[in-house]
Amino acid sequence: MSINENIREIEQKINEACNRSNRERKDINLVVVTKTIPVDIMSEAIELGLKDIGENKVQEITKKYETLGDSDLYWHMIGHLQTNKVKYIIDKVDLIHSLDRKSLAKELNKRAKKIDKVIDVLVQVNIAEEESKFGLKKENVMEFLKVLKEYPNIKVKGLMTMAPYDEDPQNIRYVFKEAKELFEEVKNQQLAHIEMEYLSMGMTNDFEVAIEEGANIIRVGTGIFGKRK
Ligand SMILES: *Cc1c(COP(=O)(O)O)cnc(C)c1O
Repeated sequence: MSINENIREIEQKINEACNRSNRERKDINLVVVTKTIPVDIMSEAIELGLKDIGENKVQEITKKYETLGDSDLYWHMIGHLQTNKVKYIIDKVDLIHSLDRKSLAKELNKRAKKIDKVIDVLVQVNIAEEESKFGLKKENVMEFLKVLKEYPNIKVKGLMTMAPYDEDPQNIRYVFKEAKELFEEVKNQQLAHIEMEYLSMGMTNDFEVAIEEGANIIRVGTGIFGKRK
């Protein structure tokens, strides 16, 4: 299948999930996950109008940025971010989905301040408490968000979560439901330095369930480019 056809299929599934949950397509942001995908293949998706690019490695971002940096793209850092690598991408990325600790917040703030930028971030939550995944435990999120007040060059724009892989995504619906509940809970606190705008959840295998439960950013790679090598 071509990238064009894959995207059309994803779009249809997004629309169907929106219909099932009384939501509108325009309220869902599709981030195209391009990790391991070479620039010339990425370009096919970009030419079809997709502008939100998701990458999980600093080195890959800096490399691809050399060719694509001038394009009108919106770069999402969706992977675990090492503190000592913040400096390489702080000027390139538009939204970091993986803020999960204070040391990273401190470094992001420092590097953003240096270039007179306010960096938009999502706080990563590990709802299912999987050992293999990063992110804060649900019960620690509120306290962490309050600490971020000390960092004026970071703007929290929402939450991100990853569900455990399950062949039947119905089994992990609770993860998205709990993330959405937390999202609403934080929103209701109306903290001045927090703007709960984005809830980033759902990948190729489970984005339809995520949309039904309230995701407004979904991150899809395999469904668009096929299985990664
Ligand atoms: C790789 C990745 C995705 C996309 O996964 P697919 O199953 O290929 O759609 C989404 N989010 C994160 C954080 C990822 O690392």
